[in-house]
Amino acid sequence: MTTIVSQIVSANEDGAIHQAVEQLIAGNLVALPTETVYGLAADALSDAAVQQIYTTKGRPVGNPLICHVASIAMADKYVVVNTIAKKLMKKYWPGPLTLVLPQRENNAIPATVSAGLQTLAVRCPASDITKSIIAELGRPIAAPSANASGKLSPTSAADVVESLGGKVPLILDGGETSIGIESTIIGIAGSNITLLRPGTITIDEISETTGLPVLDRDETQITAPGQLKSHYAPNAAVRLNATSKEPTETLIGFGEITGDFTLSASGNLAEAAQNLFALLRKADAAGTATIAVAPIPQFGIGLAINDRLKRAAAPRGL
Ligand code: AMP
Ligand code: MG
Repeated sequence: MTTIVSQIVSANEDGAIHQAVEQLIAGNLVALPTETVYGLAADALSDAAVQQIYTTKGRPVGNPLICHVASIAMADKYVVVNTIAKKLMKKYWPGPLTLVLPQRENNAIPATVSAGLQTLAVRCPASDITKSIIAELGRPIAAPSANASGKLSPTSAADVVESLGGKVPLILDGGETSIGIESTIIGIAGSNITLLRPGTITIDEISETTGLPVLDRDETQITAPGQLKSHYAPNAAVRLNATSKEPTETLIGFGEITGDFTLSASGNLAEAAQNLFALLRKADAAGTATIAVAPIPQFGIGLAINDRLKRAAAPRGL
């Protein structure tokens, strides 16, 4: 791939939003902040631009992208929004909830966005910067996390530069992301709700809002340890549920386990989610062979943190 100059622009600078929109209209990629992690955005209606997302990230073409919209009305142009989906959108949008819904027939989204599936993942981000960009563009953006496929997700513009510098013409700097891990993803088919990826909006909240049970995604592929898919991988190996550290380790603590760094000294799971990727990068930079991580409670947002940690610890190359 040819090297290009990545321009890094403060998202609050005059004209930054317009500059991003012009790049998107020209069919180029823009890295931008959302409240979850930084995204690598393309005009979702341009097949050629969307294809660049896959090549720039080295993302497998079978892994579909999330379409980011500025409103429920914009989502409604492309997917069928039933009453359950509508209720969830009204309650959690803008915010870190992605809904996988059936696509409208003959909608304008190219098949590359959904990797050929009949469903489409939609989310309305809470970040004012990104919402303004989508609104000015007037159509959705497709945006996965702005990192090389399989690596740690970026929570600052500097993280994006480290992973994709020289590959993206424009990187908007909106400071550190407030949530720090990717959105909760749920699939809705009729009245069946399935959790596809845990996030900071928990299944209990979804159940409470809809009055319906949330089925767990089919975990069969990843419950056997050897089959866990590697993702969010630092350079170092990762050891989970560590209560103390070995000489060759950097320890990331939580609660009473202090470690070299701590996800949250007070045991706050939202704070731990916000710090997760940044601390994995920091621990990686310490250069030890292994990063050890203290146990994280397996409830609420802890489910989402443990999901990322399991994949970070999975054997590489799978
Ligand atoms: P990323 O944006 O890189 O965090 O990844 C987006 C996630 O959304 C991936 O895990 C995809 O598999 C999932 N996803 C996107 N579209 C769909 C869809 N139509 N059906 C199921 N999962 C989806
Ligand atoms: Mg990602």
